[in-house]
Amino acid sequence: MTPSNFPQLFLFPHLRGQPRRNTAPSEFQAKHFPGSTVEDWADWHWQLKNRLRTVSDLERIVQLSAPEREALSRRRGHLPASITPYYASLMDPKDAGQAIRRAVIPVTAEFVRTKGEEDDPLGEDHTSPVPGLVHRYPDRVLFLTTDHCSVNCRYCTRSRVIDHGEMAPDPKRWDRAIEYIERTPTVRDVLLSGGDPLTLPDERLDYLLGRLRRIRHVEVLRIGTKSPAVLPQRVTPQLTRMLRRYHPLWMSLHFMHPAELTPEVQQACGRLADAGIPLGSQTVLLKGINDSVEVMKKLVQGLLRCRVRPYYLYQCDPITGSERFRTNVEKGLEIIQGLRGFTSGYAVPHFVVDAPAGGGKIALLPDAVLGRDGRDLVLRNYEGRLFRYPEPAEESPSTTWPLIPQPTCS
Ligand code: SF4
Repeated sequence: MTPSNFPQLFLFPHLRGQPRRNTAPSEFQAKHFPGSTVEDWADWHWQLKNRLRTVSDLERIVQLSAPEREALSRRRGHLPASITPYYASLMDPKDAGQAIRRAVIPVTAEFVRTKGEEDDPLGEDHTSPVPGLVHRYPDRVLFLTTDHCSVNCRYCTRSRVIDHGEMAPDPKRWDRAIEYIERTPTVRDVLLSGGDPLTLPDERLDYLLGRLRRIRHVEVLRIGTKSPAVLPQRVTPQLTRMLRRYHPLWMSLHFMHPAELTPEVQQACGRLADAGIPLGSQTVLLKGINDSVEVMKKLVQGLLRCRVRPYYLYQCDPITGSERFRTNVEKGLEIIQGLRGFTSGYAVPHFVVDAPAGGGKIALLPDAVLGRDGRDLVLRNYEGRLFRYPEPAEESPSTTWPLIPQPTCS
């Protein structure tokens, strides 16, 4: 350890073994944000203020393709573009097909609605007892705190509301949602989402968590956020000090590609984990971005290293203009099949389809039970080999699966 990195390693021991941070702006920052300082870059307010939103913002950073340029120019009433400088630094300036770039720069295909696509495919608007609160499952609610995100994902299920100004963090709307939770004793779990709740100032978040924590029947609070991936600067020591006062508090982090797992992200996740917050990730299966076992394995293994448990892999919702992102359902099963047994069980997410029209999450698994042979269940392992599991003689045999004649087991 050299004298110059001693204080940093003393304060953040989990950074041991990681590349030492520069004291000068990175090449990307110096080139595209001349005059800004290292302190600016590390300040989440500066990152938000300098988001890239227009053709002229983005053409300073990347060579825009014709579909990107046209989509950015003609946007009206759809999901606006929004990219933090930090996240933009992960984009390939030349390759419009690069994963990070495809996820956040609009293209004209977004304007095409194909069969079965809708603006609100999950029917959230029909399961909202008060504006901005979705009550679909018996014991938990989804609290849409704000319609604001630091980075707007082109495949967002809530494209219809993000940055449209109808779901602003308005105190009166929050009051109505909190009053609904207060008078609904079956609600024991509140998920704060949006938009991204971590775009709110600490004080607003502190106020909201405090109000919810005072409701006796609310046992668990959760926050759904993409900030650690796209704005890791947001995870400050002050934020984690505040959050740790509201345990049991869980977080669902949104990651979609291993290129997102930078040292900054690792530090942000480490801070949250050190504050005792269990971290799970949610990933949307995206064509041409993460729809291979190889990419997904890198992502889930990297997440475990960042102390994040890969939790859900979502089939992409059929929102308007999502055709370019959607795979068939079989692809998700193929990925789970390629992970299970080949890497730690903790790294294998649940593959779910969020059923259109408000049916909720439906978990899908590759078929592991082939059938019965007498009292034996015939099971297929991760290598495709067959094994028998003898069910107890005193129990009635499982009847869900059909009898299969003479299976050849290993
Ligand atoms: S961060 Fe989440 S809510 Fe915001 S645009 Fe992306 S997917 Fe949608």
